[in-house]
Amino acid sequence: MRPFLKIKIIILKLKKYFTMKVENLTIESAHKGLKNGEFTSVELTNAYLKKIEERDEEIKAFITVTKDLALAQAKEADEMIKKGEMTILTGIPCAFKDNYLIKGEKCTAGSKFLENYIAPYDATVVKKLRKQGAVFLGKTNLDEFAMGSSCEKSAFFKTKNPVDLERVPGGSSGGSAAAVASDMCVYALGSDTGGSIRQPASFCGVVGFKPTYGTVSRNGIIAFASSLDQAGPITKNVIDAQIVFEAIKGVDEYDPTTLDYTDNEKLSDIKIGVPKEYFTDGLDKEVEKAIRNAIDDYKKMGAQIIDISLPHTQYALACYYIIAPAEASANLARFDGLRYGQNIDGIIENRTKYFGSEVKKRIMLGTYTLSSGYYDAYYKKALKVRTLIKNDFDEAFKKVDVILGPTSPCLPFKIGEKQEDPMAMYLSDIYTVSVNLSGLPAISIPSKNKGLPIGIHLIGQSFKEKTLLKIANNYGK
Ligand code: GLN
Repeated sequence: MRPFLKIKIIILKLKKYFTMKVENLTIESAHKGLKNGEFTSVELTNAYLKKIEERDEEIKAFITVTKDLALAQAKEADEMIKKGEMTILTGIPCAFKDNYLIKGEKCTAGSKFLENYIAPYDATVVKKLRKQGAVFLGKTNLDEFAMGSSCEKSAFFKTKNPVDLERVPGGSSGGSAAAVASDMCVYALGSDTGGSIRQPASFCGVVGFKPTYGTVSRNGIIAFASSLDQAGPITKNVIDAQIVFEAIKGVDEYDPTTLDYTDNEKLSDIKIGVPKEYFTDGLDKEVEKAIRNAIDDYKKMGAQIIDISLPHTQYALACYYIIAPAEASANLARFDGLRYGQNIDGIIENRTKYFGSEVKKRIMLGTYTLSSGYYDAYYKKALKVRTLIKNDFDEAFKKVDVILGPTSPCLPFKIGEKQEDPMAMYLSDIYTVSVNLSGLPAISIPSKNKGLPIGIHLIGQSFKEKTLLKIANNYGK
């Protein structure tokens, strides 16, 4: 090649590097760009890495940026594209909550306990996305072991809400939501035990989707409460959420709770249920207004709005905060410094030194409610209440296709505002936990209000994610 031509190519490449805009790219639009040869995956990946360099010092969404891995994967993706082996996710940069194992990379779960832990294998979701040629930009911040609603309980640092830097991004998948909202990745993966995908999505003004329990494998995601944990995407729009869901779902021999299903539901006239118990005193007025407006919008679109009742809603939080810590106390027993994690000189010393206060609190609560003498009074009773909560939903779904309400009772709060008051923090999970207790799919989509982001929470029937996503996607169209 003539030197002149070579220099020209280098200049063109540099120009693209400095001018390429990643703002508002979705999976669909990035896929189009890659397919039409407007940019390569390496160029796209470099543009996102640059964005992370520029913005993450302030936002602090990433615990680890896996630059070398991302660039190697981007190169491979470009080869796949050249050979015509492209899927919709090939070459597109994403991020993972730091409780997903990526082989050979650090996985901390936001805890000092796992500060130096290197994952020995890929989580099933990671494996599936890797196979499709996805590009992994890094691992995002979370409340320690996914226990929290603000990302302030991470052992490393606090992530900021990109919409307002004085506020929390929500939690526990706050890093993933903040990364998507600030264009530091096209989409991200989160985990949702009691709202951890939907609430941060609501706080950051993006889409967060928790599929039906069992549709996506939990294998290789560090367990919090196994009967509630669910993997899912945080994205810019509903279509992207559906794309990622389709790519990660399916039966997994390593997770016996995964199921396969077919969902051919046709959507003719939509019936949306509005539970009276969701509009009570604790609901912020601004949030209520945004949700009432969303209900009106759906009405104008031709949907039927039906008043429903979920009478056991008031017990959901108490029930969740017994069951989740009980399961957590059993799951976290493996972190002793011998099998996993940091080791100084003894199991008690390790657990005393490397677990944070919220995690210790939950282990103690969980051990207490499972102990003989208290098991019947707390744990067993909570299981019974869980069935009652699930029955409420079953009844409601005889009359409606989806249930609409707020994702969170409050606006994104200021950093530090609720840290000293655990009850206030737990209360922000009021609308999300009953969904996990019942295994249902649910999505948070941004409302149209001006000002701080407010999420509309749509709850669907088990395995009817297509219906749910269709109704969510229709919003505002
Ligand atoms: N905020 C809830 C809790 O602290 C939910 C967390 C989650 O979904 N991982 O338990």
